[in-house]
Formats: sequence, structure tokens, C-alpha cells
Amino acid sequence: MAALQLTGVGVSPGRASGPVVRVAEPLGEPSAVPAPTDVEAEAGRIAPAAAAVADRLTAKAATVEGDSRAVLETTAAMATDPALAKQAAKLVRERALPAPRAVFEAANVFAASLEAAGGYLAERAQDVRDVRDRIVAELLGIDPPGVPELAGPSVLVARDLAPADTAGLDPAKVLALVTEEGGPTSHTAILARSLGIPAVVAVRGVLALDAEGLIVDGATGSVEVPDGPVEVVAAAVQAEPEWDGVGRTSDGQRVKIIANVGSAEDAATSVAAGAEGVGLFRTEFCYLSATTEPSVEAQRAAYAKVLSPFQGKPVVVRTLDAGADKPLPFLTPEDEPNPALGVRGLRIGREQQGVLDRQLEAIAAAAEDSGAEVSVMAPMVATAEEAAWFAERVRAAGLPRAGVMIEIPAAALSAKEILAEVDFVSLGTNDLAQYVFAADRMLGALASLNDPWQPALLRLIALVGEAGVELGKPVGVCGEAAADPALGCVLVGLGVTSLSMNAAALARVGSTLGGVTVDACREAARAALAAKDPAQAREVARAALGL
Ligand code: PEP
Ligand code: MG
Repeated sequence: MAALQLTGVGVSPGRASGPVVRVAEPLGEPSAVPAPTDVEAEAGRIAPAAAAVADRLTAKAATVEGDSRAVLETTAAMATDPALAKQAAKLVRERALPAPRAVFEAANVFAASLEAAGGYLAERAQDVRDVRDRIVAELLGIDPPGVPELAGPSVLVARDLAPADTAGLDPAKVLALVTEEGGPTSHTAILARSLGIPAVVAVRGVLALDAEGLIVDGATGSVEVPDGPVEVVAAAVQAEPEWDGVGRTSDGQRVKIIANVGSAEDAATSVAAGAEGVGLFRTEFCYLSATTEPSVEAQRAAYAKVLSPFQGKPVVVRTLDAGADKPLPFLTPEDEPNPALGVRGLRIGREQQGVLDRQLEAIAAAAEDSGAEVSVMAPMVATAEEAAWFAERVRAAGLPRAGVMIEIPAAALSAKEILAEVDFVSLGTNDLAQYVFAADRMLGALASLNDPWQPALLRLIALVGEAGVELGKPVGVCGEAAADPALGCVLVGLGVTSLSMNAAALARVGSTLGGVTVDACREAARAALAAKDPAQAREVARAALGL
């Protein structure tokens, strides 16, 4: 029996329960007023607060091993750096600033000088900001922002999580993730799925709950407060349907069933799950916390790790898709009024061609190191001219195949002209839905507009499928739409030649496609295109497929 039940949007399946740990909200800038009445006493609060932060970090370091231990010890040492406390105390005395504001300003000056030094030192700027926030929180008497160190298996509750925070979650400790905000195709949801952590987003009211434990169902979106004490239960591993690892319809039409990856771990999981290759390697996921451009050698090594398990197999590497909810601190312009409509994806590559060319050089070297059959594609392409420009850069780097993503409505409407310039295209249905419905994919409140079964979205996809058939070039789908087994069949009926998805979806999509004919896929596509809304599209397509 549940004492209370809330419902959100289930974005990563699995039922789990356990004690709640809340993720503290970002701090914001501490105020410069009111001025302290006793400046000396205020300045004297800084060093003890920094020492308390360092003690806590050192105690935590003693409970973990390896890299985590080293990171915590280094951060503890930074917190007690006398230069920071001294400079902050000076600001209190000279400008009568409250201590939290003084620490904030002093740390920002340190971080900026590290950034200006470049290289390894610039990488440390983010650590200084982390220490800054911890000392400021200590002075204000509140929890430090971000995901806390977890003492045991827990259900994380947050307003929303940045992709960089989600990528760092330990699936052995995070039983489930529940957010008050967030949308089903946000990168946080995508990362939770790839880590296999049950997740529910857009759960209105969860932050206001005073619950010690929660029962979370990532498939249905239900979040329950138990009547009594909560039991710690991890999500059971889902039974996989039978699939022989070869994507085809029951009458033998080949459709590559391939994986979306963002790390070496994803690559290994995908190979184990039977992926025939990779349809989307999100290279920006390797650099979500990088504050400076990684060197060509560092990129080469990082990419080779992801490519190596796919020796002799096709892998589509996407060049950096920085922007909107995936800002890369070293690339993304700050203070754009509408980041999703801003200088992002390939637009940054055109403004900073050196960054793109260096990445292509690293990808070409990693392709050789790994023996994978590498193609490269660009994100956020709007016109055939952009596609031609990108293809020229790819060929200049000695890479054999260039493609682009179709995720802007203008690109879908120009699919024929774009395909004439490149070797293949891949539909990014997450962004295509967001832009065609003018509905932010990160907002749970707009989840129904971002439903990939929306007939208007399917009609745009149909245009791209037709262009692919006419020009005899491959059209893939690497948005979340490809991970829905019935919708995958509809996409094949619309002319799509490969479906790329998270590892957990491969067997289900592969086995469903293996059970239907290509004619049934086309009939399902015709029915879905003519539907009046997503619910009807689902229903008529499933009926045509006999599902
Ligand atoms: C998409 O937009 O559908 C896509 C696959 O790219 P991303 O989700 O990384 O924006
Ligand atoms: Mg996209």
C-alpha cells in the first residue's frame, strides 16, 4: 500500500525502492549586501569554514578507493589553500563584503587565472569553483550543490540534473532517479537509460514531499511513498527477447540495428547486447566537464577506446554537438538568449574551424588505431550548403564517408539536396520533434508534443525516407524514436535503413522487426501518417503490424 502516489514521465524502465537522497539546488551568486557589522569577525569565519569543508572531504576520501579517493583528497587540499582564505578575508576587510560573497569573488579570480594559464592548469579551474561552492554553502549553513557522495544505495531526487552530473552517477549506488522537471528526450534521460538506472522525470510535487523513502517505477512513471519503512530493492534485470544479432524483417530486408554510445563502457555493453555497429557516437559526452579543448592525442586515445570493440564494424562518429543542455565549457558561447536556437553543433565548427579540423584529425587516427569502419557526421545542419562544407572538411581529413544529421525541419525539407552532398543522413528525432513543435525537449510539461509518434513528425521523416530511396543513399534514425519497437517498424516502412538506440533496446527492436514483413511495415507507416494524433498513430500501426 502506498501512502501517496505521484506520476511523472517514465524515461528509463525498472522498479526500485530505497531511501531518498536529495540533490541540493545550484547556489547562485551570494549577495554582496548587507555589509557585516563586525568586519574582523566576518573575515575570521572563512578559514574555519574552509577547514570544515576540507575535513569532510578528507573523511569521505577515506571511505573510497582509486580515482575517487585521489579527486577528493586533491579537492580537500584546495579547500585549505591559505591563499584563497587570505584573499577572501582581505576582500571582507577592504570592501566590507559578507564572507560568502568574498569567497565567491576571490575564488573566481583564482579560477580565471588558471584558465588563462591554459593546459592542465585550466582543467583545475572547475575544481576551484567546486571548492568555492562548498565553502560558500558552509558559510551559509546549507547543503553544498550537486550530487552528494552516497553512503549506500539511494533514490536520488532532484529538480533536474545536468548531463555531466548524470554521467557521473554510479549505477551500483543509485537505485533510481526522480526529477521534478526534465523531459523524456533530454540528455539526462538518455544517460540514465544508458546507465540502466530507472528514472522518472517531470514529477510535479516530488521536491515538496517529505518522504524518507520512495518506490519508483521507471516504466509507468509512478513514484510512491510507502506506508511503512522503505525496503532497499534494486531494479531486476529485464528478461531479453531472443534475437540473433542480425537486423532484418521476417522476409529478409536488411535493416542495421546499431547502438548509440558516449563512452567506452557504453561500447562494451552494446557489443555484449549484439549491436551490429554504432549509429551515433556522441563525442561531446567525453568532454562534458572539460574546460579546455582536449589535445588531438587525448581525443585520439578517448575515441579509440570507444571504437576498438567495433573492429571491422561500421561506426558513425558525430563531431562535437555542444550547446543547449550539453554546453561544453571550452566551446559554447555564454549568455545566448536561446541556446537551443544558438551557435551550436556544426555552427560552432564553422566559427571555429580549427576545433573541427583537429577533431577530424583525431577521429581519423582513432579509426586507424581501432580498425573500425568509421563514418563521420555533423550535428545541427540546416542547409545543403552546410552539408557540402562539412563533407569537404571530412574528405580533407582523409576520412572516407561523410554524413549529416537531419534534426532541423529545414534540413528534412531539403533532404534531397542534402543527400546529394553527403554519403548518408541520420534522423535525430529528439531535436527534430523539439524544433517542429517549438517544444523544449527538456520540459516535462511539453512531453506530449515531443512524442515521436506525432503524425506531423512522421510526415517529415517520410520526406527524408523518400529522398533516401530516390537517391539510393542510407537514411538512419538515431533519435529515441528508434528504440520503440513498433515505431522502429514504422520508420522502416518510411524508408529508413538503420535504427540506432541505447544498448538495452537492441534485442527488443531487433526481435520485433524480425517478426514482421516489410509490407506490414509500409502498411503501418501509411496508417500512422494518416492518424489524427500520436495515440491513434500507435494504435493503427500496432494493428497493422499485428503487435
Ligand atoms: C537527436 O536529436 O535526436 C539526437 C540523436 O541527438 P541528441 O539527442 O544528442 O541531440
Ligand atoms: Mg540532436
